[in-house]
Amino acid sequence: MSELSLQNEVAKRRTFAIISHPDAGKTTITEKVLLHGQQIQKAGTIKGKKSGQHAKSDWMQMEQERGISVTTSVMQFPYNDALVNLLDTPGHEDFSEDTYRTLTAVDSCLMVIDGAKGVEDRTIKLMEVTRLRDTPIITFMNKLDRDIRDPLELLDEVEDVLKIMCAPITWPIGSGKNFKGVYHLLNDETILYKTGQGHRIQEETIIKGLDNPELDEKIGVWADELREQIELVNGASNPFDKELFLAGELTPVFFGTALGNFGVDHMLDGLVDWAPRPQARETDQHENVSADNKDFSGFIFKIQANMDPRHRDRVAFLRIVSGKYEKGMKMRQVRTGKDVRISDALTFLAGDRSHVEEAYPGDIIGLHNHGTIQIGDTFTAGEDFKFSGIPNFAPELFRRIRLKDPLKQKQLLKGLVQLSEEGAVQVFRPLISNDLIVGAVGVLQFDVVVHRLRTEYKVDAMYENINVATARWVSSKDEKKLDEFRRKAEANLALDGGDNLTYIAPTMVNLSLAEERYPDIEFTHTREH
Ligand code: GDP
Repeated sequence: MSELSLQNEVAKRRTFAIISHPDAGKTTITEKVLLHGQQIQKAGTIKGKKSGQHAKSDWMQMEQERGISVTTSVMQFPYNDALVNLLDTPGHEDFSEDTYRTLTAVDSCLMVIDGAKGVEDRTIKLMEVTRLRDTPIITFMNKLDRDIRDPLELLDEVEDVLKIMCAPITWPIGSGKNFKGVYHLLNDETILYKTGQGHRIQEETIIKGLDNPELDEKIGVWADELREQIELVNGASNPFDKELFLAGELTPVFFGTALGNFGVDHMLDGLVDWAPRPQARETDQHENVSADNKDFSGFIFKIQANMDPRHRDRVAFLRIVSGKYEKGMKMRQVRTGKDVRISDALTFLAGDRSHVEEAYPGDIIGLHNHGTIQIGDTFTAGEDFKFSGIPNFAPELFRRIRLKDPLKQKQLLKGLVQLSEEGAVQVFRPLISNDLIVGAVGVLQFDVVVHRLRTEYKVDAMYENINVATARWVSSKDEKKLDEFRRKAEANLALDGGDNLTYIAPTMVNLSLAEERYPDIEFTHTREH
């Protein structure tokens, strides 16, 4: 293909994810975003998700409905002249590792905040993760159809707590019962809100100019209130600056209601206009790989099993970094050195899984995985290199796992190693015993593992409590020192699913003592795949 048409395809694409605290409205916004992408005529068809609080049974149910929930994993849709990829992140914080890795595969994020609640915990955490790569952030203040907090105060809170400058793009006129619409500061127009249009594209009344008498006719006393407010806002807030936005230092802010389907399109307009096209990614070589590089390359950021109960398959999600995917092309899996021909990659246009003929940087394709693909794997059709920066986080919860039928030890280990390759859980094998320790970031992961071991590997397992506070990956530049450490600290050492040496600490105090005692050993909390 010509370089020019590759560049055109790249320029069209916007790949983003939504970050928010549970219940702020991520699912609802996703529905409306798709409605605007005109992929679903009547929004409200996204299933497998009910607020942030999945009960355990809910999760199992969800698991059985995986054929449905995949449609929410990656969604591609056209908007204006752009082609947008929206990557879903799990709502429950017990799966936050998955979320963190998904954030490595996007070029921008939409932050959704409940206007009545302001900045909440999980948003703070997720923002920290986006900071690792200075990902540009767009903000949507949601639920304006309810009484929200003072908008200026909300912006102050974002600036103080999240340490990012705010540039309001739209400004709300009232809220709750008195929500009249928004004034668009850049376009100098007022867009009036109408209730009862949540399920279709809003018919909008737009009034040009703040001094327009039509404004007084339509919203009465609120018109003067708005004029005063805008004067204040212009004086007190930051103007939009695209450079600062792209550097992750300033966020454009939109106000609206996802449920009422108002304001989502203003946000989308901003996203396709300003959010970056597919960005370069770091590698283990000194050069970054840019999207315009004509050789195909990409990395695996997520593996999902049993997406389709009828096929029992596992799908590895690959973010294309450079070049073009074409059906039937040959590519190399760098870690194994094996060449593979891929003719059945999945794409996610229109929320349906279908086979893809071609795909471009910024797109996500699904590769069928028969246990050979791991999170963090690089695929390339050009030179060999590895993408870096796809993290594993040290687990914080630990259990010993035991079989009900001891003869199935081999099967259990195989299952655990495969699940750890997927990033569903981490497994540790102590050097001095035959125990198997399972480590997780969130407690739900334990249930998921036992459930999947039973259904996918036919082994019945159960947990026992174990006295472990934390784990650290260990390494040293000095081989000799590492050997010595290995001997002396053997009782606390284990191998993880990828045979990496790990220190298992019974208490935090024990960990600090070990760090002091072995200054030549590095103890790390994250490990790159
Ligand atoms: P998520 O957990 O972030 O995905 O949030 P949901 O989209 O599931 O929304 C949580 C709850 O808030 C649901 O009951 C939604 O109907 C409701 N909700 C979402 N957006 C709005 C909004 O703009 N206004 C109002 N009043 N409720 C909303």
